[in-house]
Amino acid sequence: MEQIKNAYLDMGISEKTYAFGESVLKELKERFEEIDKVAEINQLKVLGAMQKHQVSEACLLGTTGYGYNDLGRDALEAVYASVFHTEDALVRPQITCGTHALALALMSNLRPGDELLSPVGKPYDTLEEVIGIRPSMGSLAEYGVSYKQVDLLEDGSFDFDGIKAAINEKTKLVTVQRSKGYQTRPTLSVDRIGQLIDFIKKIKPSVICMVDNCYGEFVETREPSDVGADMVVGSLIKNPGGGLAPIGGYIAGKKECVENAARRLTSPGLGKEVGASLGVLPQLYQGFFLAPTVTASALKGAIFAANLYEKLGFPVIPNGSESRHDIIQAVTFGNPEGVIAFCEGIQAAAPVDSHVTPEPWDMPGYDAKVIMAAGAFVSGSSIELSADGPIKPPYAVYFQGGLTWPHAKFGILRSLESLASKGIITL
Ligand SMILES: *Cc1c(COP(=O)(O)O)cnc(C)c1O
Repeated sequence: MEQIKNAYLDMGISEKTYAFGESVLKELKERFEEIDKVAEINQLKVLGAMQKHQVSEACLLGTTGYGYNDLGRDALEAVYASVFHTEDALVRPQITCGTHALALALMSNLRPGDELLSPVGKPYDTLEEVIGIRPSMGSLAEYGVSYKQVDLLEDGSFDFDGIKAAINEKTKLVTVQRSKGYQTRPTLSVDRIGQLIDFIKKIKPSVICMVDNCYGEFVETREPSDVGADMVVGSLIKNPGGGLAPIGGYIAGKKECVENAARRLTSPGLGKEVGASLGVLPQLYQGFFLAPTVTASALKGAIFAANLYEKLGFPVIPNGSESRHDIIQAVTFGNPEGVIAFCEGIQAAAPVDSHVTPEPWDMPGYDAKVIMAAGAFVSGSSIELSADGPIKPPYAVYFQGGLTWPHAKFGILRSLESLASKGIITL
């Protein structure tokens, strides 16, 4: 349609870029339909949970002070537990981010002398300091919790022999990261996570299996807690916050695991009973309600980007045609200039701070400079259209989010425009 094209031209997209985008999009119709079906199922799942727990107008009010008898907070936790099919959940604005939620789940369920195992290779960068892989004050290592890691095999499959050999009498908790994070390994499907948990539980049934679910929520119709995970953990400024949650994290799982986390977040003896929700409950509820369709928009953006950049000859993970298990798209540029130009394009497409230029900086918790493009309504929110890349080989950029599909589409076209203007690509 001429009118749509003109709208893009008005926003600084060239004819060539627009035409290239449309040619790629034509081939993605069926995949987008599949994504919409998953969103439909997940929408009903969330709606059903809200109805089952009788979310009412009073649930949206919130409390102050100690937050005793916070009806809305307790109902929201019941809704999360329902959606993840777990016994219990802790969903709090006092959990400051995903790393905090993961640290909380680990530190509250591990004791001195216990061992933590990652059977899927190196965990997310910020967890290195939580665990003590990189020495850090207050790490699990400092508290006498040891750590073992079994890497994935060359082809991305599990090293079952290595995992079996690594499990011992001290192994108390296994951490499985669903998403690839800042790595170029494949993301794990819920199916594969289930196989891994089955294998581990056969060797040692008492072990707690925790899944770092960041960026994975609502991408499939099942969650890791549907295939045996004892805890799933994530951030509310990613998928489950639906772009509206201004802060927060969640831990859903076995009652004992969740209660341990609550006692550590607040205090022994207080647990889940305190923690005022202040004024954020409407956004946490509404965000969770929107999360399935927001995740679908982000997923479409990721697939669109994969197909565009693959056609231009850049290595992309996942590739243009493979199935998706998180919303992250990695594009490898092989040089800092590509990473920077891409991020500048995403930033220029933002509704907030589109006029600023992102620059690499020493971000806390990371071991290399990181450049981030995020013109988000919620600071640092990565369910909103965003991109980031550590300035180190292989110089890959990690792209994610998009509260609406049209915005994700525009952002990606804008990134192409930025690379073209610097002569890094020719269309
Ligand atoms: C984002 C993320 C984290 C950490 O979450 P923050 O909110 O950035 O602290 C942990 N693991 C994975 C896989 C993530 O994507």
